[in-house]
Amino acid sequence: MKGTDSQAEIVEGCRLPVLLRNGDGWHMAEILGKKETNGKNLYYIHYDDFNKRLDEWVTEERMDISKLVQPSKEAKTPKKEGVKTGTGSRPGTPEREVVVQQNGSSGNKKFSGNRKRKGADDTEISEPATPSRNNTSNQLTVADPFATPTSSRNNTPTLGLQQQNSVTVNEDGSKKPRQTGSMVAHHDDIVTRMKNIEMIELGKYRIRPWYFSPYPQELTSLPILYICEFCLKYVKSKKCLERHIQKCLLRYPPGNEIYRKGNISFFEIDGRKNKAYAQNLCLLAKLFLDHKTLYYDTDPFLFYVMCEQDVKGYHIVGYFSKEKESTEDYNVACILTLPPYQKKGFGKLLIEFSYELSKCEGKTGSPEKPLSDLGLLSYRSYWSQTLLEILINMTPSEGNDRPVVTINEISEMTSIKKEDVISTLQHLNLINYYKGQYIITLSHEQIDTQMKAMEKRKVRIDPKCLHWQPKDWSKRGKW
Ligand code: ZN
Repeated sequence: MKGTDSQAEIVEGCRLPVLLRNGDGWHMAEILGKKETNGKNLYYIHYDDFNKRLDEWVTEERMDISKLVQPSKEAKTPKKEGVKTGTGSRPGTPEREVVVQQNGSSGNKKFSGNRKRKGADDTEISEPATPSRNNTSNQLTVADPFATPTSSRNNTPTLGLQQQNSVTVNEDGSKKPRQTGSMVAHHDDIVTRMKNIEMIELGKYRIRPWYFSPYPQELTSLPILYICEFCLKYVKSKKCLERHIQKCLLRYPPGNEIYRKGNISFFEIDGRKNKAYAQNLCLLAKLFLDHKTLYYDTDPFLFYVMCEQDVKGYHIVGYFSKEKESTEDYNVACILTLPPYQKKGFGKLLIEFSYELSKCEGKTGSPEKPLSDLGLLSYRSYWSQTLLEILINMTPSEGNDRPVVTINEISEMTSIKKEDVISTLQHLNLINYYKGQYIITLSHEQIDTQMKAMEKRKVRIDPKCLHWQPKDWSKRGKW
């Protein structure tokens, strides 16, 4: 697909305005690929500043060729050079990349980013000295959050997920991807930047994939890829699926059911013992996850699959994977709610479950970075609600007119890693420095909003329904 032909001027790397699918105006896009179908040229395009899931094939009718911009000499489109293994390299053209801002001359001032930020946020109350306006029970004193010896005193600007009052997302975090080889970075390969599966059928759903996934090449030209919703085996036709279903005895994922409440169940699957299932799960998940990709070396992972049960069986809703042994305190590697179940609270349920496991382990944990854009939103929301729930329910400690808590205590109660607790408090703009103390002040609006949000979260993880004991994988040898 290189070089010149009859359509000489439109090549990979060109940019031009493309009419959005819903007809809602023109948007600049980059040509990533080209093919001919029924004598018509089709171009695979990526819209500037939009998530890759909106990438698509378009015809020339939707392209404003008069405004075509040729690629510059040092084209940013990566060369076609096959798969690279994870060396920590970043994607060629990440769709949203933002540098984490340093807080100006923050110096040693802890939480400096939160003091009088922009002045636009009217929920900010930086005058704890006027309790007449506030119910004092809404104020908490935070003992020095950096009191433990493990933390550096100057590390405020390096907090992994810090976000400064805007929708911009730091996808990168500060950690490099795992380098065990289980993670394969495909981003430098132009082929894998294009969606390759048109549609999947999974149980009662037909779902249009968002991203590339390395299903066998011969299956990528099919209009629909059929997937058994229980064992996740993929086949090329409805007929094959019907034949498979007659033989397939599974009605739930092949692992231990470690949680059940109502119609929600969780199954734990060992990536070593159930390799085929784990690999198929990864292939399926990759259709909806851009960043993280592990396909073949599933041995070091456990997979927690959440299902909704009905008379037909246990239907997969979403999952997360987790390293059996994490040197970095990650408690989630990949996490996904399948599209038909999104925006219904299932994502938060998955996250809540991951922290319940960490509580059983007596550890704090954090998701592996980078998170997807949707993943980050879910985590932000989960962390915020979890912390607010705790703060609101605290009672004043003895000899004090307001509750006192340390960041470490919050972290221990929730199993949310300390850095994430701090970044969430900062994100919520809750911490004020006053007379030598850090004070968390919750406005009535914040409490109201929180109460309403929690009312909507009808389904919660009930720790009593979890039947699970952590294993010490380091002592298990090849287990
Ligand atoms: Zn099956």
